[in-house]
Amino acid sequence: MILIVDDKAENIYSLKALLSVHSFPVDTASSGEEALKKILVNFYALIILDVQMPGMDGFEVAEIISGYSKSRDIPIIFLTAVNTDKKYITRGYSAGAVDYITKPIDPDILLLKVKTLYKMYEQSHKLQEMHLHLLQEVEQRKKAEKEADEKAAELKSTLESIPQIAFTTTIEGQVEYTNSRWLEYADSSSVFPLTHEQDEDIRSVLQKNIATGEPLEMEIRLCKKGTSDWRYHLMRLLPVRENNEIVKWAGTFTDIEDQKQAAQKKDEFISIASHELKTPLTSIKAYLQLLEREVTGRSPFDLYVERTLVQVRKLDGLIAELLDISKLENGKLVFDMTSFDFEALLSGQVEMFKRSFPDYTIERTGQVNAPVYGNEARLEQVITNFINNAIKYSPEIKKVIVATSVTGNELRFSVRDFGIGISPEEQKNLFNKFYRAPQAVSSFQGMGIGLYICAEIIQRHGGTYGVESERGKGSTFYFTIPIKKQD
Ligand code: ADP
Repeated sequence: MILIVDDKAENIYSLKALLSVHSFPVDTASSGEEALKKILVNFYALIILDVQMPGMDGFEVAEIISGYSKSRDIPIIFLTAVNTDKKYITRGYSAGAVDYITKPIDPDILLLKVKTLYKMYEQSHKLQEMHLHLLQEVEQRKKAEKEADEKAAELKSTLESIPQIAFTTTIEGQVEYTNSRWLEYADSSSVFPLTHEQDEDIRSVLQKNIATGEPLEMEIRLCKKGTSDWRYHLMRLLPVRENNEIVKWAGTFTDIEDQKQAAQKKDEFISIASHELKTPLTSIKAYLQLLEREVTGRSPFDLYVERTLVQVRKLDGLIAELLDISKLENGKLVFDMTSFDFEALLSGQVEMFKRSFPDYTIERTGQVNAPVYGNEARLEQVITNFINNAIKYSPEIKKVIVATSVTGNELRFSVRDFGIGISPEEQKNLFNKFYRAPQAVSSFQGMGIGLYICAEIIQRHGGTYGVESERGKGSTFYFTIPIKKQD
């Protein structure tokens, strides 16, 4: 905007008209004092200043303007009555651009000067803005660099403080950074630690993963320099990406020897305990069954024996699960495969559940007409487990749907309930050994073994398994297996 300062209204009028015709936005002031007030609050690109004004004259106004940091660079065109010496005009206003024009005003000359000074001011203003912008950018970069340095230092000290061996490599697999623990296992910070002769070499593992871009988790044995103590370590390797491109690999080795030994001891304990418990329990069951035959009258002992037998069968089931788990662990779970009548097996199971849980509606959909190749007893175990869980984990809505469907050579079996359901986070772990969802732990009995064994059984049949579930709405557990023997 251009500010016209003149005490004569007619001068202001004609100047304003001239400039407005040429599309310059214009503001006006009729005295030096008013002009100064306006300059303080508004932004002007040019001031046209009458020199002869009553009160504060044009030169005084200019002198004050040059004292304000905000306005010292605004160009001024003085309007003088006589051709004044230019040196005199620039007095007190050497910082900004300045020009003058004598009265009577020649509109063409005035326009020329206005255009030139206006443009000049605009350009210098733009330059100033750019300069400011650049300064800010430099500042920001400096700050970002400082932050990045601090982060790197922080990360380094974190990596030094962790109990793991940590390292990074280039995208080609060349070791780039290692924490100091590395040197307890490797000869230098550029070579990988040696692995046990029966384990894979780290470099070749790394090369495979570099080729696929996949993260890696594997167990290998490492030995501290100067010892012969080969300890199991979990090797983790992750690609580090920037803008979706792998820029390096980061890895750790975590000593898991103690955990492995504890897990092995636990497995041994489970195996011994379940074997030891099985023998006396079998005798108890046999004697109870004898007793059951004897107490045929209507005495309360009938009921006691019946109830004891129910509990003994539960105990028997639990011990069988524990035995299965130790057999699985030792690779001793036998799988004799034959073709059998799956439909008859399933119908029998459904009938048995209907009798045992009369308050539940157990629906059956689909039919399997062809014989199925597999281990009947083990598949019965899976079916029982799925239906048992469906009943156990749906105490409110007592309805279970058992479905089968056949597509080509594939049999799909599923059990749907409308019970407590399982959150997506928990679903990931359901088929893991001893896993129980927190909700199940607090309100339902169990050991978290059943599904783990089911998963193993289905895998041995060359099948797939899984769950679809929503918390509070219910779950569908399913498996698929090939119907005929595979080559
Ligand atoms: P258990 O039932 O003895 O705990 P399982 O291995 O059979 O062991 O099941 C593991 C866990 O899966 C259970 O503890 C429970 O959290 C969850 N689960 C299994 N079946 C269902 C189901 N039908 N509805 C909800 N949760 C289930």
